[in-house]
Amino acid sequence: MEKKEQLYEGKAKKVFATQDPALLIVQYKDDATAFNGLKKGTIAGKGVINNQMSNRLMKMLEAEGIPTHLVEELSQRETLVRRVQIVPLEVIVRNIAAGSFAKRYGVEEGTVFDQPTIEFSYKNDALGDPLCNAYHAEALKLATEAELAAIRDYAFRINALLKKFWRECGVTLVDFKLEFGRLPDGTIVLADEISPDTCRLWDSKTGEKLDKDRFRRDLGGVEEAYAEIMQRLNARLGAQA
Ligand code: UDP
Repeated sequence: MEKKEQLYEGKAKKVFATQDPALLIVQYKDDATAFNGLKKGTIAGKGVINNQMSNRLMKMLEAEGIPTHLVEELSQRETLVRRVQIVPLEVIVRNIAAGSFAKRYGVEEGTVFDQPTIEFSYKNDALGDPLCNAYHAEALKLATEAELAAIRDYAFRINALLKKFWRECGVTLVDFKLEFGRLPDGTIVLADEISPDTCRLWDSKTGEKLDKDRFRRDLGGVEEAYAEIMQRLNARLGAQA
């Protein structure tokens, strides 16, 4: 499958058309942004890690019955995916209070919830991705009630599977962001990526942050943290291509 014209360039990825209108090629960059694009930088090697990690995790989820956009990894930074219409919601699942949740509600970061929580943000850079409940999402015609129910169900199932996976790597899954898309027949599938850019991952023993918070909060050792988390995943799955 060959790359044709570039359709889109986002903060961390470029998207290309292919000769098949139903398929796209995603290319992962090393560029990193935070705080709605206010902070910009580069994390050397991130594109390769995010591409490989996202694909391996999505493969695992597929095997567990979660439909995803993944078709096949093409190179270190490129993956063939099914073309979907993205549902313009950031779907955030949390097991432990951190980041915007800790700040908004005045909860200490690290507070463990009895049950996982879910929230949506309306994907809109100009508005700063505002928090949005399911009724708002319906009112704004971002998704139907049935789609929101499917998204919620998949998101919690994905959380249970990822939490178990990362626990076996000695890593605590604190929270993460998902995006879903619609296939031409309307079926909802998991899209976008699952990576240290989109998850909070803490070393289970030391609590050390092994994710993009090292970049957001200028903690140093950013590249090392991405390499470490990839190494943990490889050790768990075997370093197959
Ligand atoms: N997240 C993301 N993209 C965003 C916002 C959040 O991938 O635009 C992820 C983030 O990495 C974290 C989770 O979603 O794992 C929850 O993020 P939060 O709402 O706490 O916002 P943050 O503090 O990261 O701005």
